[in-house]
Amino acid sequence: MIYLYWEKNCINMKQSVYRPSEIRGLMKQMLSIYDLVRLVDPNECQELHLNEDDVLRPQKGCYEVWSSDKRCANCSSFMAAQCTKRMEKTEYFDGKTFHILSLPVAIQNSDNSLSSCVMECITIKDGIEENATEGVTNKADSALVDTLTDIYNWDGFYKMARRAINAEPDGKWSVVVYNIVRFKMVNDIFGRNKGNEILIRMAQLIRSKLSDNEVCARLRGDRFAALVHSDNLDERFDLTEINDTNLTKDSPFHLHIRLGIFNVTNKDLPVSSMCDRAMIALSSLSDNSAKQKVVFDETMMDKMVHEQLVEDECEKAIRHKEFQIYLQPQVMKDGTIIGAEALARWVREDGQIVPPVDFIEVMEKTELISKLDLYVWEEAAKKLCEWKNSDLKDLYISVNISPKDFFYVDVYEVFDSLVKKYEIDKSKLKLEITETMMMNDAMKQLSLVNRLHSEGFEIEIDDFGKGYSSLSLLKDIDADTLKIDKEFLNQTENDKKSESILGSVIAMSDRLDMDVITEGVETRKQLDRMISLGCDRFQGYYFAKPLPVKEFEELYKNRNGVLS
Ligand code: C2E
Ligand code: MG
Ligand code: MG
Repeated sequence: MIYLYWEKNCINMKQSVYRPSEIRGLMKQMLSIYDLVRLVDPNECQELHLNEDDVLRPQKGCYEVWSSDKRCANCSSFMAAQCTKRMEKTEYFDGKTFHILSLPVAIQNSDNSLSSCVMECITIKDGIEENATEGVTNKADSALVDTLTDIYNWDGFYKMARRAINAEPDGKWSVVVYNIVRFKMVNDIFGRNKGNEILIRMAQLIRSKLSDNEVCARLRGDRFAALVHSDNLDERFDLTEINDTNLTKDSPFHLHIRLGIFNVTNKDLPVSSMCDRAMIALSSLSDNSAKQKVVFDETMMDKMVHEQLVEDECEKAIRHKEFQIYLQPQVMKDGTIIGAEALARWVREDGQIVPPVDFIEVMEKTELISKLDLYVWEEAAKKLCEWKNSDLKDLYISVNISPKDFFYVDVYEVFDSLVKKYEIDKSKLKLEITETMMMNDAMKQLSLVNRLHSEGFEIEIDDFGKGYSSLSLLKDIDADTLKIDKEFLNQTENDKKSESILGSVIAMSDRLDMDVITEGVETRKQLDRMISLGCDRFQGYYFAKPLPVKEFEELYKNRNGVLS
């Protein structure tokens, strides 16, 4: 069996092997991007259907989708199957433009044999992109113009960009998609009028940087696009003047603009597909990335396909209750267990245990992360309730809160109802938040966390010392515990300077009346060093790894609550 997460680093797709359920999931996901997704046997020119018994059967002539009765010349799927490589082609039939992406795949049959076929992902657009070669202007007529910004809308861009490309067949072109980071926040904080003002300014700026025959448009919301000549791009990408608007001039709030770039290699590609690729590049930047622009490359497409597969698998795993919590003890320096951190594990049907590193990041791209977290938080609360009348009654459980949870669920409401439902002491359910949480919509999250704290929940700042660490967060947030990340621990082994920073952080936490836990302690040497720096709480393999709940409970009982 080939499982998806093993393929993580194998992003050059070639002919990937999928189980029938996986191929169905993948086709469903691809349908959110493409107009038509289907399996074909290009040798026989037949569309294939995966029936309920997971058997592939021919259905009809695959060319029927083009309302044609004959095989296409230079069929991209035929070529894809021959060289087991992705292929692309544009076909024009019946006044429509079809762009076909052909992905060779192999499907694993129930007797473990493989059936090879091609997955076609097709974009269908009404009309045939014009071959017109008239000049291009950026002031155009009614239906093609965005009423707010007075530059082209999506339809206008599609049409004019095609004209521009055709008019200069030897030109080197790039499609750029622009996005204002956290634009929604501008609308929320400053109101729609100010938001509109910024969009208008943005359109003016982009237009002012264009030269002859280049085109720009507002696609939707704060998404802008431009078709530009590929040279001298850098200076024209610099849109920092956007911050000269009255809105942000004297305000500490700065607008950041990000760009996804697709360097056009195949001019026959529909403009919509060029934009898709620039957008895929843009979406490859994580929310917190400091990068301003990113250029599309083919591996991004493969990564996206992979992520969609994992996402689909995760969704199923949640439905099938394949996630479990593991508990890792948190101890005092003498080994006395004071509580545990709940960590998610995906236990697959065949017993394989998948660690969070293989699914959290993908889940965080959708609301799946909140489905998982709601489950983990509930399991933790249920356990605390069970422990109330046992030897483990004094222990707490810390749960992780993803920054994305604040978008998808009412975090306050969830925790408030959990402690009521299971009648547990609020201080027993500790909430681990990370600094990255504070980078988005900071004020809202800050007040929510402080409200939870004022009502008796304990707040831990997780992963301190990993990535960006801001001491100012400690000033603004009412936290009870600082968790020093294991990365910091590794640095201190050879760096005297970080050791003294660490000593100061611990001393400062003490003055702020916060506990400090060091995570990832693996050796006696690390433990002794951290004790000498003033830390007295620990979590790490030196004491115990994360354990299935039953094993954690047995460990606690067998050792009378002390690990040493
Ligand atoms: P985290 O919250 O910082 O959790 C601590 C991680 O460090 C855990 O990895 C734990 O197994 C690992 N660890 C503990 N002691 C040691 C040690 O001595 N040496 C080493 N090398 N590692 C140690 P895990 O369980 O793989 O989780 C990784 C991250 O995934 C967590 O980091 C957390 O950010 C995220 N995560 C895990 N479970 C959940 C969950 O239910 N919800 C959310 N949102 N995130 C989760
Ligand atoms: Mg944690
Ligand atoms: Mg941590």
